[in-house]
Amino acid sequence: MRTILFPLLLLLSVQISAADLIEQAPERLKAYLKIDTINPPGNETRGVKWLAAILDEAGIPYETAESAPGRGNIWARLKGGDEPALVLLHHIDVVPADAAHWDVDPLSAAVKDGYIYGRGAIDTKGLGITHLQAFLALHKSGRKLSRDVIFMATADEEAGGFYGAGWMVKNHREAFRNAGYLINEGGSGALIGDTPVFRIEVTQKVPLWLRLTATDTPGHGSSPRLTSSVNRILRAGNRIAETQFERRLIPPVQAMFEASAPFYKGEMSKKLANISENVTDNDFVTALRIEQPGSAALLSNTCSITRLEGSNKINVVPPTAAMELDCRLLPDQDPDAFIDLLKVVANDPNIKFEKIMAFTPAVSSTDTPLFRAISATLDSNFPGMKIIPSVSTGFTDSHFMRDINITSYGFAPFLYSEDAKPGVHGNNERINVETFNKGVQVMTDFVMRFATEDK
Ligand SMILES: [Zn+2]
Repeated sequence: MRTILFPLLLLLSVQISAADLIEQAPERLKAYLKIDTINPPGNETRGVKWLAAILDEAGIPYETAESAPGRGNIWARLKGGDEPALVLLHHIDVVPADAAHWDVDPLSAAVKDGYIYGRGAIDTKGLGITHLQAFLALHKSGRKLSRDVIFMATADEEAGGFYGAGWMVKNHREAFRNAGYLINEGGSGALIGDTPVFRIEVTQKVPLWLRLTATDTPGHGSSPRLTSSVNRILRAGNRIAETQFERRLIPPVQAMFEASAPFYKGEMSKKLANISENVTDNDFVTALRIEQPGSAALLSNTCSITRLEGSNKINVVPPTAAMELDCRLLPDQDPDAFIDLLKVVANDPNIKFEKIMAFTPAVSSTDTPLFRAISATLDSNFPGMKIIPSVSTGFTDSHFMRDINITSYGFAPFLYSEDAKPGVHGNNERINVETFNKGVQVMTDFVMRFATEDK
């Protein structure tokens, strides 16, 4: 009797546990949203303590480290076989929220009309809870793992990640021991017509933030000289703003546009399907810039002038004037070669160029076991779904991981309906409870599939 019953009971208890973990997920998300980790200043250690208590309760060892006072990071590892480890990465910090423009208090985690509201519901505490519950389910299942699985929550993503993921890579490289794969924010799912479409981010445009400073003789506003620092910076800014950088198609962008084509109508669909022929068609690109500036930005390097500094007095011509540029480079562009090009465009030896921030570019291939596991998981949970490998104009912490040769994808298990605009970084950020619960189940399914031996 006993020998027959025991495995049955074990199986039963495992199933109940996995279901429990999904059931408790919304409460977990609400509790996480109520922790104030608005960056600046971040205070991510508050989130670390909360996550640590949950890992303690589950009996899973973890480590924590602060990059600066209050800037906490936490990671935990489930041991498995020799295959490259999988990292589940999310960030604890959230962007500020102006309560005056919200229907509810942004830190209240209020539930309204089937949605959980809160700063971070999508970006990325919601995703973090799917990782956490999947990680706990994996641990509870007692199944043999083919690879280590690492749960990691970091600080500071919203300000560039230098106190979080970037700091971890520099100061706690051991946390990534044997890691070959990583999933992170940056992906999304949406119903387009009747088709579930998931974007999986494989690379991103690379930020190159520059400060240009012009120097010239200062003086009084009543006696203008032939040249001045301010006039120099304005002239250079004008030349840069008027420059259309070369349009060209990199393979991941081409794959993304071609895969998107069936979801558009008429002329746009045809143009996208033949993007390699249309990338230099000015009328098409102008139309795209009007309709979808984010997509058009994937066809060239770009620079936005975002900050200007001159005199602090109306009648004083200052000795220096400055301008800051938010340039975003295609992932195969050498940043220094681009700066050389900008110097030619600015054409002024009195202007000094300074790098404020620059990342190394990298692309993750889609021809990997991780991509296939995500694809198989989505297939079985969303029949008829399509995947669009995508290139993001913005950046996440994934570039730090691609730099250390970890194949990294932006993947979120949430399928949003068209009417549910999630409000990332905007007002009323929220997630539908059913969408979220399904996401927890899909993430659990994915982790089991990718990391257990009896797949
Ligand atoms: Zn984020």
